[in-house]
Amino acid sequence: MDFDTYFKNYPTKDGFFGRYGGSYIPPELQAAMDEITEAYNTICKSSKFISELRRIRKEFQGRPTPISHLERLSDSIGNGVQIYVKREDLNHTGAHKLNHCMGEGLLAKYMGKKKVIAETGAGQHGVALATAAAYFGLECDIYMGAVDIKKQAPNVARMKILGANVIEVTDGLATLKEAVDAAFMAYCKEYKDAIYCIGSVVGPHPFPMMVRDFQSVVGIEAREQFHDMTGELPDAVVACVGGGSNAMGIFSGFLNDPVNIYGVEPLGKGTSLGEHAASITYGTEGIMHGFNSIMLKDEKGEPAPVYSVASGLDYPSCGPEHAFLHDIGRIQYETATDEETIDAFFALSRMEGIIPAIESSHAVAYAMKLAKQMEKGSILVNLSGRGDKDMDYIIEKYGIR
Ligand SMILES: *Cc1c(COP(=O)(O)O)cnc(C)c1O
Repeated sequence: MDFDTYFKNYPTKDGFFGRYGGSYIPPELQAAMDEITEAYNTICKSSKFISELRRIRKEFQGRPTPISHLERLSDSIGNGVQIYVKREDLNHTGAHKLNHCMGEGLLAKYMGKKKVIAETGAGQHGVALATAAAYFGLECDIYMGAVDIKKQAPNVARMKILGANVIEVTDGLATLKEAVDAAFMAYCKEYKDAIYCIGSVVGPHPFPMMVRDFQSVVGIEAREQFHDMTGELPDAVVACVGGGSNAMGIFSGFLNDPVNIYGVEPLGKGTSLGEHAASITYGTEGIMHGFNSIMLKDEKGEPAPVYSVASGLDYPSCGPEHAFLHDIGRIQYETATDEETIDAFFALSRMEGIIPAIESSHAVAYAMKLAKQMEKGSILVNLSGRGDKDMDYIIEKYGIR
């Protein structure tokens, strides 16, 4: 496959990456998605939009984020393989999610919308979007299950301080799935004045494409920075995959290079259904949340219950582009267990002075395994976020190691 023209050809006009992607939603929502696609294809390619987004990234987000060489961690592996991290933990608000939320917020402003709408589970996407809304002077409605509101008090407080309306959803199990349904319903009613903002490379077209494009700044920066630092490209690039946005961001910079690319899925407590959220590794093709991809299903064919120690990774499917790049063999998907992840979390904290998000620790864990198998060379890991949000949980569950 020729990756020279990959970004011109994928996705197709209708949002397909091979058989995956597309848009499987009710007709009234399709009209709203078509409006977003049309606006994205014109506004976001204009030099005015691009230069404003560049300015925001530099002056507000603190981009470019650096790459750090993990000397002590690499030495501890002892075979000469060198590990580097792209520091998305140093992006404003502490994770990569702001990269696409600022793009979506700027698009909303250019489209003349007054409000952004989204759901959130653990609250990370809600906080990033509330930040963008405050910056652009947009109203922000975040739908959140009552159970999650109780569990994620600090993120609920952040969203409220940033001026967002956190709308409690009490239907059914009162978690993420019900929040998605409530947010979609509200959007159906309000789409003339509002735009729905998805938090990863998932959902109906154009979101997998749009979020990938906004995140691609990570890969573009990383490729150039790594080359400046070392005079060559890394031998391997590694990122964790929940929905897959941080991974598509860094991977997109290296698809056309002789670089091995690894997506790391959460293996949780084990390989039985319900113990993990490794959608590509153990899933099959299916449609959910408006797109066709690879997903974990229960015996009725519905999205299966999933688990991961990292709340940002417990999603029963993944972005359609990952499913495609998996099938054509360009990207290899591997796993890290909870235990390997927590070991990596403490290793990075102790040896490098960087406390990573538990999500990102999955990528570090796999990179440490991979480094042991390689005889020489270098690995670049996308460190998608910082671990401040995970402190209380780590101390309560694992104590100080
Ligand atoms: C949300 C989140 C993830 C998972 O989302 P992707 O779309 O798979 O990138 C990973 N890391 C951090 C820090 C997150 O907040």
